[in-house]
Amino acid sequence: MSETLYDVVIVGGGPAGSSAAIYTARADLRTIVLDKDPHAGALGMAHVIANYPGVRSGISGMELLLTMRSQAESFGAEFAREKVIGLDLREHVKKAFTASGKMFSGRTLLLATGSMGKSSEIDGERELVGAGVSYCATCDAAFYKGRVVAVAGRTGEAVEEALMLSRFAGKVYLLCPSSSFSAPREDMERLTFQPNIEVMFNSRITSINGSGSVESLSLSGKDDPLPVDGVFLYLTGSSPVIDYTGGQLDSTPSGCLDTGPGFVTSVPGVFAAGDVLCKEIKQAIIVASEGCRAALHVDKYLRGRDKARSDYH
Ligand SMILES: Cc1cc2nc3c(=O)[nH]c(=O)nc-3n(C[C@H](O)[C@H](O)[C@H](O)COP(=O)(O)OP(=O)(O)OC[C@H]3O[C@@H](n4cnc5c(N)ncnc54)[C@H](O)[C@@H]3O)c2cc1C
Repeated sequence: MSETLYDVVIVGGGPAGSSAAIYTARADLRTIVLDKDPHAGALGMAHVIANYPGVRSGISGMELLLTMRSQAESFGAEFAREKVIGLDLREHVKKAFTASGKMFSGRTLLLATGSMGKSSEIDGERELVGAGVSYCATCDAAFYKGRVVAVAGRTGEAVEEALMLSRFAGKVYLLCPSSSFSAPREDMERLTFQPNIEVMFNSRITSINGSGSVESLSLSGKDDPLPVDGVFLYLTGSSPVIDYTGGQLDSTPSGCLDTGPGFVTSVPGVFAAGDVLCKEIKQAIIVASEGCRAALHVDKYLRGRDKARSDYH
């Protein structure tokens, strides 16, 4: 058991949790970040980050994450490799229990465990993530200028992402796994104006092929593989990681935490930031800013300030 009472226990050390730790530690709040595995988070998995301001082009998500972490550590934040499996939110002091049998106590908790896709279902998907398999056109479209890509999915998100990719790629195959899309009519109309998008109905990917990077897709009912340089998957969606909260916090029907501008959950003293929140756009810069703002609200709560504000030293 950890004897230390922390001012803030941050669960999840991705860009949201690490940015929050920079701010809470720098505000002289005793801070620990519990993270099960940096490679398991969305930023840790990102092969190349090219759109985060102030960092050289081509940096990997992991390098960016380690820079954020060491910055937080330089201000006194502690990091522990721990998987949180349960919380006790009933008392003023909040408790986080980990898989290794430890308990961490905090005057506040800040949840930043991100959002993860459901597990890989297609042969070759896991091996080629970051090497042509992507889940985010906003992140990766610019790497496919003039190249051939496929988008798989039947939702409005899949159609929107295909439209977005068509501005960069030379050719976009939109592979709908069934006989129709479930997408807004306006998006479907826009599809007809994009000559470089080819819609293929009843097209299920049975395997993603390539050695080192994506080269082709095998499709159900087709003998020849479809040659592509990349594939964007929108087949399963992703869900905020809140299983360890044991239903103690209010969440929306889609499973995200809706905190409002103060970043506080339905339990006072429990804050949240990052992709675990309800949001339209998932990007590192957005969650880093949320980590900062949530940290300032933690500081406001603990110090009884009338409003959240940053102090410059
Ligand atoms: C493949 C890919 C490429 C991307 N490319 C870009 C890009 O180019 N540019 C961009 O801006 N954004 C990109 N994104 C989006 C961006 O990475 C995410 O929006 C961002 O990382 C979310 O940050 P987060 O801190 O909320 O969660 P995450 O980065 O997912 O971090 C959550 C952390 O919590 C930990 N965790 C989870 N559960 C527990 C638990 N129970 N106990 C302890 N720790 C736990 C995880 O191990 C992880 O370290 C990409 C995402 C993916 C998946």
